[in-house]
Amino acid sequence: MVKLSERVQSMTSSPTLKLVQIKNQLQAQGKVILDFGAGEPDFPTTDNIKKAGIAAIKKNFTKYTTTSGIAELKKAVQKVYEREQGFTAAEMQIVVSPGSKYSLFLLLQAVIDPGDEVIIPRPYWVSYPEMVKFCGGRAVYADHLQPGRLFELTAASYISLCSARTKAVIVNSPSNPTGKIMGGGDLRQLIDFFYKKNILVIIDDCYRKIIYTDQAYPSPMNLVPAAREMVAVVSSLSKTFAMTGWRIGYSIVSEALAAAMTKIQEHSTSNACSISQKAAVEALSGDEDAVREMVAEYRRRRDYFAGRVDEIGHITYALPDGAFYFFADFSYDIAHKKFKDDNQLAMDILEKLNIILVPGSAFGAANHLRISYATSMKDIRSGLDKLSTYLREGK
Ligand code: GLU
Repeated sequence: MVKLSERVQSMTSSPTLKLVQIKNQLQAQGKVILDFGAGEPDFPTTDNIKKAGIAAIKKNFTKYTTTSGIAELKKAVQKVYEREQGFTAAEMQIVVSPGSKYSLFLLLQAVIDPGDEVIIPRPYWVSYPEMVKFCGGRAVYADHLQPGRLFELTAASYISLCSARTKAVIVNSPSNPTGKIMGGGDLRQLIDFFYKKNILVIIDDCYRKIIYTDQAYPSPMNLVPAAREMVAVVSSLSKTFAMTGWRIGYSIVSEALAAAMTKIQEHSTSNACSISQKAAVEALSGDEDAVREMVAEYRRRRDYFAGRVDEIGHITYALPDGAFYFFADFSYDIAHKKFKDDNQLAMDILEKLNIILVPGSAFGAANHLRISYATSMKDIRSGLDKLSTYLREGK
């Protein structure tokens, strides 16, 4: 067999996407699975967006597009940030990619040299450390691990880790997996500190539209206007518009960085799917009633979840302010059931209850489990009934 590159050998599989595969396999065996695993909205993509995709096919919009995305979509992105954040990105600053995961991958490939450090939050989204490693960089972890402190995302946690090797920092707000939002004051402090040292501040705002507080989402590009060149926003349509399979993400970065990322995209994937781009124009330009309804439903589920978890009693969590995950400390159950760790607990729950949860270790937080509530209320009810019986056994 061909010898695999060192780079790929040091990479681990995505634990979240592996769970999608496990679910599909179990379902193919006829099992009824309650899926609280990979974060994927259970809602279908709305009809207006689907129709835009179908119209694109009918009009033969099925060829290559400009690598960095069609002008119409870049304009739609521009308008969104103008409307929501009072910030106008130039068209040349926008790169549309096949999913924001790839946007981030391009961004890191464009700026990280071997030995460079990237400060990432912990708990982290599973792909951050792997992408940094793949670029030859070293992930350094800003800890926000204490549910008792509400997994608070602070500027200080990043600033204290700055070194001569730091090349970039990643802020994920609302956070996957904790649902916590970095407040405007902390974000301003963080941007102000890092841009002066020529360190890129990457804001992953994929869950920006799924927020349950009245706080306005701070505009990273406006907080420190002098820092704009050193701020990069990475975003996605997957979660907001229930479009995970369409694979559309985008970045707003400096023009120089956009050109560098486009070059890499030219030689790797070419443009994002032409049909999906047309559907994305409709998603970003159409009315947002469906988004508001989905967020209201996520909020109902979150509150229901919290009530049921409180009834169980011994699980420590911080109520999520955004995204659609509960990230909770299950140390008590791991010890009580004499398990080695959260992986074993999650596996036992899968085997005995047919419920998929993601072990906290996948996010750098041992003894926790992530529970996605982007799944139907019916499944949430039945999953929580089973879980609470299971967790109370022998208590
Ligand atoms: N981002 C989602 C999650 O954390 C989907 C899977 C993935 O891309 O990791 O579950």
